[in-house]
Amino acid sequence: MAGASIIDGKEIAAQVRREVAAKVAERVARGRPAPGLAVVLVGNDPASEVYVRNKARSTREVGMGSFEHRLPASTSEADLLVLIADLNARSDVNGILVQLPLPKHIDPVRVIEAIDPAKDVDGFHPVNVGRVASGAKALAPCTPTGCLILASSVQADLGGLEAVVIGRSNIVGKPMAQLLLSANCTVTIAHSRTRDLPLVARRADLLVVAVGRAEMVRGDWIKPGAIVIDVGIQRVAGAGGKGRLVGDVAFEEVKAVAGAITPVPGGVGPMTIACLLQNTLQAAEAA
Ligand code: NAD
Repeated sequence: MAGASIIDGKEIAAQVRREVAAKVAERVARGRPAPGLAVVLVGNDPASEVYVRNKARSTREVGMGSFEHRLPASTSEADLLVLIADLNARSDVNGILVQLPLPKHIDPVRVIEAIDPAKDVDGFHPVNVGRVASGAKALAPCTPTGCLILASSVQADLGGLEAVVIGRSNIVGKPMAQLLLSANCTVTIAHSRTRDLPLVARRADLLVVAVGRAEMVRGDWIKPGAIVIDVGIQRVAGAGGKGRLVGDVAFEEVKAVAGAITPVPGGVGPMTIACLLQNTLQAAEAA
């Protein structure tokens, strides 16, 4: 068997970034200000530091303004809310992203709800969650939007496909299911309490996996020819004591059965920042 085609998330994300850069240049040529993205990091979680640095670099690369706010872990919720109110009021800031997780003494729900929904480029504010659910124009969460672009790169019209999403988080699983419903798929959401997960997964023409368990999905869970989108990313011990990154899908096994599959790394990961930039441009254009 020839095996699945590999969906090149790096290249597709680069293409999205090029499109955003071209639209930003065109906007600036029209005499409009460059869109601006503010990223707020509270504390110094090493993974979050890397994400924030990458987001800021990518923002500048497409010609947007990047505003980084690094606050100590001891910052009070009240002080963070004051900063958000200030960013809400600034006309040069079109997108506001508060890097999660926040320190334990800060309530993430209160913080997310304080962001102006028109600047909520993560798509986590209840107004945007509701708009996505009702199929209205919204700032949709970046990772599931990226997954949808990757799946559509294999098959432009996903209408009528049996789609199974494994994972029901607010950040990935639930909004993914909503976006697939809007794309006219027949959608099943599976999760930790689903009975006979392999049987449910085998129904899928399109399988999206966002669980956070290394290589959980095996080759015999896959319908031959299915499109498989792997959101998971975990570091596991590799040969020679060096760590290697793997997804929620046992790549080699699944590749032998699927029609198309995203690799880890280089699949969903690069799409998240590309879609964040797309959302920031959308927010600026709507302002
Ligand atoms: P989460 O922990 O919030 O949610 C995991 C979901 O998986 C839960 O809904 C749970 O019900 C389900 N689950 C747990 N165990 C299960 C099992 N044994 N069988 C079936 N379902 C099970 O995680 P998340 O934020 O949705 O992230 C999931 C994965 O995706 C993680 O590995 C995360 O690092 C990765 N992720 C990647 C990106 C990216 O940009 N590439 C973005 C977000 C998340």
